[in-house]
Amino acid sequence: MTPVAALERVVHCLDRAHETSFKTKAFVRALDVVRALPPDEIDKRAATHTLTELDGIGDSSARVIEEAYAGEATYLAELEARTRVPITAAGQVYRDALRGDLHMHTRWSDGGATIEAMARTAIEQGHDYIVITDHSPRLTVAHGLDAERLRQQLADIAVLNERLAPFRILTGIEVDILEDGTLDHPDDVLAELDVVIASVHSKLRMPAPQMTERMVRAVANPHVDVLGHCTGRMIAKRDPSQFDPDYVFAACAQFRTAVEINCRPERLDPPRPLLAMAIEHGCHFTIDTDAHATGQLEWLPKGCDRAAETGVPIERVLNSWSADDLLRWGTAR
Ligand SMILES: [Zn+2]
Ligand SMILES: [Zn+2]
Repeated sequence: MTPVAALERVVHCLDRAHETSFKTKAFVRALDVVRALPPDEIDKRAATHTLTELDGIGDSSARVIEEAYAGEATYLAELEARTRVPITAAGQVYRDALRGDLHMHTRWSDGGATIEAMARTAIEQGHDYIVITDHSPRLTVAHGLDAERLRQQLADIAVLNERLAPFRILTGIEVDILEDGTLDHPDDVLAELDVVIASVHSKLRMPAPQMTERMVRAVANPHVDVLGHCTGRMIAKRDPSQFDPDYVFAACAQFRTAVEINCRPERLDPPRPLLAMAIEHGCHFTIDTDAHATGQLEWLPKGCDRAAETGVPIERVLNSWSADDLLRWGTAR
């Protein structure tokens, strides 16, 4: 294993453990330093144990690099074991059925990895396809994509698709649901994309009647395929938004907008009682990581376990379908 590959794997493991600490930042920094230096300098310094003299290489990074050269990756092996994402036997049935992931972010908005890095990780995980869903312009803190940057992204994806075939990168967006239920891109822009996820990211505390109307209007838009993290809750930090789930899930079923089961550990949205209601209403679902880094693409087990616990019918999970069936569903409205 090369020092770069070893450090990349360390960062991947820390990301999947959701360790956004100083330690993760230190490894990302070390990775930048190693990438920027000629390999023979790294060779020489590893042999003479002088890596830590370099600005940005600490004791742990130096250990990972030296172990990579020695072919005895103890630090990494321990980290691999400690950060493995657990899954129940019942959840594994869902995980085995999944063929793709419909919600993720890249460096184009607020993600940490390139589209290619996300795609290559997804391939390693056995996926047939992914959907790239960066943020829309209203989310300025996340460098949301306006129509022009979105079209540049589509051109990049087309080039990558030629290189990575038969794996497929589908195009998409996580579009903001504005306060009145309209969306943060006009219909003609959304029509160019394979998959549109609509999510509420602002004014999460509006009164329930208005929030219900806002969400129903978005769900009814013919371009919207998925309702993202419907309550907007952040576990132990932010309460779920209030809305009438009967109206919202009935609209999801009627307008064929899937309800997302968001796998992010701080979201796990919708909460179980709402998920049970969505099943009753006959909704379709997606189980998505909402990954912002390659390691986070390993979070599907968290949503699979919930789907198993609440008895989501697997055949109603869109990302258990082939990419072609998924695309047909999106247009058959
Ligand atoms: Zn979101
Ligand atoms: Zn997202």
